[in-house]
Amino acid sequence: MILPIDNLSQIPTPFYYYNMELLNATLQSVKQEAGQYGYKVHYAVKANANDRILEAIRAAGFGADCVSGNEVQKALDAGFSNKGVVFAGVGKADWEINLGLDNDIACFNVESIPELEIINELAEAKGKVAKVAFRINPNVNANTHHYITTGLEENKFGINQWDLENVFDVLAKLNNVELEGIHFHIGSQITDLQSFKDLCIRVNEIQKWLISRHIYPKVINVGGGLGIDYEHPDENPMPDFKSFFKLFHELLDLKPDQELHFELGRSIVGQCGTLISRVLYVKNGVNTKFAIVDAGMSDLIRPALYQAYHRIENISSTKAEEKYDVVGPICESSDCFGKAVTLPQTDRGDLIAIRSTGAYGEIMANRYNLRELPLAYYSDLI
Ligand SMILES: *Cc1c(COP(=O)(O)O)cnc(C)c1O
Repeated sequence: MILPIDNLSQIPTPFYYYNMELLNATLQSVKQEAGQYGYKVHYAVKANANDRILEAIRAAGFGADCVSGNEVQKALDAGFSNKGVVFAGVGKADWEINLGLDNDIACFNVESIPELEIINELAEAKGKVAKVAFRINPNVNANTHHYITTGLEENKFGINQWDLENVFDVLAKLNNVELEGIHFHIGSQITDLQSFKDLCIRVNEIQKWLISRHIYPKVINVGGGLGIDYEHPDENPMPDFKSFFKLFHELLDLKPDQELHFELGRSIVGQCGTLISRVLYVKNGVNTKFAIVDAGMSDLIRPALYQAYHRIENISSTKAEEKYDVVGPICESSDCFGKAVTLPQTDRGDLIAIRSTGAYGEIMANRYNLRELPLAYYSDLI
């Protein structure tokens, strides 16, 4: 990606810069590759709920996958149809469930029997029937960082398979919930498609089990989790959506009239964002040089939270290369964006681009150390 350095250098740092052309190209690619099989995609709002990003995604015709009441409200405010809103999460509060019921959202992705009973009770009080999908824990290893693995039996997410019989027995006794589908989500930043193959095999087994009990879910929702190339954002600005959707087309045993749904977050918005910061000081350490930048873990927490790698570039300098630890100003040793990063010789005032920060970047920003939240700028508006 060629960053418009002259324009960016006029803007006070740190800030997020979004490449809207890349976002739109990515959306078109997803639409084309999923659309040819008739698959429906809900965008996982938690990856990035920036107004302009949401607007582009809504305009492209995607639904919204939400994990809190405020996300449901945000999606509706952004103009997503209630029929395209699904609501997941292990700990939905009563007010959040009520919000979903009042707005007749498409589906609650239910993660436990007690939650199912509460949704039934709240729906009954409103004289409504809530559509639910069971989030089943398929015990598939996503082979990703353990903080973002969600589909193993030891994780807090979903209903484990030994409990399934029970769940369907409870469902049969409740009048104000109706089965819409079954739901899976095995983790995030999955780059080895084998994990999705394993998921397909498990889903097929579970479908057989359901059919043997005369249960026919209308929707199979296989969640999100497709990874992006953090190492090579310019070589691979878009994930290989073609192979991803083809895999499900070939391996997942979809019944006639069944719909297949996806909930993609990172793979849609990850590569379009860049965190731009400025070098404040360069300081010599014992073994290393520190490039101290004006962005910190309050602006981008992923490296501190789960040792995430982001490509770091000095976009101002073309001098000979050296190694730097690129760190922020926050009073935490984990406030470090990269160790021994090879950069052209770096000086105070240089612009540093931290790449592939469109997902779980701006949305996770916080005000620790009473810092200001980062602002956002867009390629089509600067
Ligand atoms: C976070 C999440 C997603 C999106 O995950 P990505 O890795 O960003 O694609 C999808 N579904 C559920 C239930 C989630 O919690």
